[in-house]
Amino acid sequence: MAHIDAGKTTASERILYITGKIHRLGEVHDGAATLDHMDQERERGITITSAATTIQWKDHHINLIDTPGHVDFTVEVERSLRVLDGAVALFCGVGGVEPQSTGVWRQAEKYGVPVIAFVNKLDRPGSSFFTVIKAIQEELGANAVPIVLPVGEGENFRGMIDLIDKTDIVLEEKDTDILDPKETPVPEELVPEVAKWRQHLIEKISETDEALLDKFMAGEEPTVEELRAALRKATIARDIVPVLCGSAYRNVGIRSLLDSVLYYLPSPKVEEGPLSALAFKIVQDRHAKLIFVRVYSGELRAGSYVWNSVREKRERIGRVLEMHADEPEQKQALRAGEIGAVVGLEHTLTGNTLCEEDHPIVLESIEFPSPVISVSIKPESRADRDKLSTALAKLSEEDPTFLVKVDPETSETIISGMGELHLEVLVDRIKREFGVEAGVGRPQVAYRETVRSNGAIDYKLQKQTGGKGDFARVKLELEPLESGAGFVFDDVIKGGNVPKEYIPAVRKGIVDAMEKGVYAGYPIVDLKVKLVDGAYHEVDSSERAFFTCASIAFKEMFKSSQPILLEPIMAVNAVTNGDYLGPVNGDLSSRRGRIEGMTQKGVNQEISAMVPLGKMFGYATNLRTLTRGTATFSMQFDHYEEVPGSMAEEIIEAKKKAAAEKS
Ligand code: GDP
Repeated sequence: MAHIDAGKTTASERILYITGKIHRLGEVHDGAATLDHMDQERERGITITSAATTIQWKDHHINLIDTPGHVDFTVEVERSLRVLDGAVALFCGVGGVEPQSTGVWRQAEKYGVPVIAFVNKLDRPGSSFFTVIKAIQEELGANAVPIVLPVGEGENFRGMIDLIDKTDIVLEEKDTDILDPKETPVPEELVPEVAKWRQHLIEKISETDEALLDKFMAGEEPTVEELRAALRKATIARDIVPVLCGSAYRNVGIRSLLDSVLYYLPSPKVEEGPLSALAFKIVQDRHAKLIFVRVYSGELRAGSYVWNSVREKRERIGRVLEMHADEPEQKQALRAGEIGAVVGLEHTLTGNTLCEEDHPIVLESIEFPSPVISVSIKPESRADRDKLSTALAKLSEEDPTFLVKVDPETSETIISGMGELHLEVLVDRIKREFGVEAGVGRPQVAYRETVRSNGAIDYKLQKQTGGKGDFARVKLELEPLESGAGFVFDDVIKGGNVPKEYIPAVRKGIVDAMEKGVYAGYPIVDLKVKLVDGAYHEVDSSERAFFTCASIAFKEMFKSSQPILLEPIMAVNAVTNGDYLGPVNGDLSSRRGRIEGMTQKGVNQEISAMVPLGKMFGYATNLRTLTRGTATFSMQFDHYEEVPGSMAEEIIEAKKKAAAEKS
């Protein structure tokens, strides 16, 4: 995991090469990296989906997932960290701790995943191993401890030295054959430096281990095995982050990285007993639907039946595959600890648990953020319309942060995602993989609606037009909830004034109104509705009557409870040199941005700000012009916030106008 461009794909290619998975190195900038297998990935030089690969290193099985660094694909990082036991955080030796390094680091913390750090690109001018370590300590709050030492930096970079294995202290030279690296004795002048950092390492490890601390205090030297065992324990407990270094591009440090994965990261606990497995990713390839799973206990066998405990469905496992970047290998079974894919499941969605029907269990699911940006998509022809709906169904099944809905006012199909790049890539796939000709509208902010005050209503629906009429009556109460709380329906009705069989219809009527929106036609969130009382009629009441009654009642109540509009607020990080600090700050403020902080980053300043997404369209071009192309930025959804009153009116007016034009 890393910020974009730190070198994950390059490092992964080296790993595949040394472990014999590929026989030729493909460089990212030539568009030939093996793990980047989607066309869009090769063209854009970014990793979008996290390809899963199984590799073999020194009699161990390692599952490798290359996660994307771009924030628009945060869902991929999230699900990878949910199912992996350990992470390698890669840092650029020049860029150090960049905004997205912080993002993925926090995600690893959230799932309690132990981390090894690797400082890459030490061959680049301006790189500094110890500056990056300091940043990891200060900005990420980690107990980062170097376990290797680079020799030279930038143009003078020669290679690196392992600090733990004292009996085998050698310099691994750059630009040598990665399958058989050239190792030379440590240069005489470096011996004191190596001794100093080895001592530092022993001291740091001893702080976490009592037996070692006693030895340390007594001035005794621990054995290499003792050091490794204690460091392994400390890494798994997240007390220490061992830091490695090298240059993936110049073939330095990758073997010691693989060794460190075996030495310090957890091995999956192999648990006997009934099957439990988590489906964490769905990929539709040209031939079949692949469901990626991590098996936690038991065995997932080809041809067997399993129980999906979330959907409460029996499923048949067709084929079981071990993944190798692009070409899967058929297997009899996946065992506890393994990651692979299965074919043949019909009902399983991302986050579902597969288990045995007589040993049901539900594993913790995966949380996904809600999409913040939308565009309309319109098929060119009738034939395209059918192909489009197939494409949308398949893609939204793969990606839980990609939503599809039909605007009730304009009847347009609206797709929503995590950012402009996310939607661009999806639209590209719709066109290429599914062969759909379609036009796409301008990006729109995914606003939400909620209320500020409590409300209540007593509403009666009564239609008697000869024959059977419609009758329903509900008494509802409304209460705003905190941000992110979603929707809570509370049925507190007593004595059957609304019979049990009509209560689901009441809930559905409310949910229907919430999805369509009341104030401005955006989805409604974060509130609680209580059904407190009601009435029914023996003949004229029906599910439909209660659905309609609850829907109208909710809308009326919502309108009179101080409705407000919510907008996505983005956490923006802009890095600029001091000359442009004023203009960049001023520009962010003029976009209704709140500057939250400024930190010195080498010769540059990093500005952190909270800015409404609606004000960020076209920012990249603007920033380029403003700073003559010298500044960079990244942004990520942070939270929803109330739109200021006058702005809200403008947004609602614009939406009404657009709807009127279209219909
Ligand atoms: P990712 O976005 O993290 O997957 O990064 P990539 O592997 O795509 O690397 C981004 C760019 O940095 C590519 O042009 C690589 O060739 C280059 N790169 C990767 N590792 C190194 C390195 O160790 N040294 C140098 N100088 N360049 C590197």
